[in-house]
Amino acid sequence: MEKYRVKAEEKIKLKNYDPDDTSLIPDGKPAGLAKMAELTQKLDKLQEVLFAEHKHKILIILQARDAAGKDGTIRSVFSGINPQGVHIESFKVPSEIESDHDYLWRIHQQVPGKGEMVVFNRSHYEDVLVVRVHNFVTKDVWKNRYDQIKNFEKMLTEEGATILKFYLNISRDEQKKRLQDRIDDPAKNWKFNPGDLKERALWDEYSSAYEDAFNETSTNLAPWYIIPADHNWYRNFCVASILVKTLEDLDMKYPAPTADLSKIIID
Ligand code: AMP
Ligand code: MG
Repeated sequence: MEKYRVKAEEKIKLKNYDPDDTSLIPDGKPAGLAKMAELTQKLDKLQEVLFAEHKHKILIILQARDAAGKDGTIRSVFSGINPQGVHIESFKVPSEIESDHDYLWRIHQQVPGKGEMVVFNRSHYEDVLVVRVHNFVTKDVWKNRYDQIKNFEKMLTEEGATILKFYLNISRDEQKKRLQDRIDDPAKNWKFNPGDLKERALWDEYSSAYEDAFNETSTNLAPWYIIPADHNWYRNFCVASILVKTLEDLDMKYPAPTADLSKIIID
């Protein structure tokens, strides 16, 4: 999975990442789904230790263009987990009170506490993506935000957070297919948002904004992963694998019993 990580010192180009890649599972979808089933079971166990140990804080950030599958990723990756064990936070267009504050104000309130796992469906990165592309603030304002974000995330990790940032990398052609599907399939009509076409027309502007975000803010402690997202099964597999590996590396332990259990008799 290292191949998808943006190294801290590196300056990447999005065009060098193939959205159609499935190379880590050469046997294809059935093999991928089988591995995924194992991963979701592991994740369930890891979440339990995370909660019991009450030490680490896990923050997972998902960013993507429309129809790349942020919602589908969440549904799939966390499908095996205790529903009490993960909290999903979606960041929409800021409310009036949110807009009256700095852009990290609403974010900071939602970061995980000890033993918690929180998924951000969109995040503070919107403030250097949609906000930049649409000139909602001036260039000098959004330019300062990369350092602010890096420092904010550095502080969180120094305070015990583990941060994983995933960009679900869908191709222009695949996005077209999925948006068309939302028009053609009555069960998906509700998902069609004409506004998505306006964002699609700004494809290259978003590519530049994403590239800058990755190059400016991927650090060893809070890395970006650029996940191939044209195949849902592979996208889900990659996100789950990276999450499971990261949690395993934390070497979490159940806490020691608070009493000498060998002396306890329940009558
Ligand atoms: P969705 O995730 O499809 O429900 O859409 C949420 C919308 O909120 C997207 O169009 C985002 O770009 C937008 N959004 C999220 N955060 C911000 C922000 N900080 N400023 C402006 N728009 C935002
Ligand atoms: Mg949308």
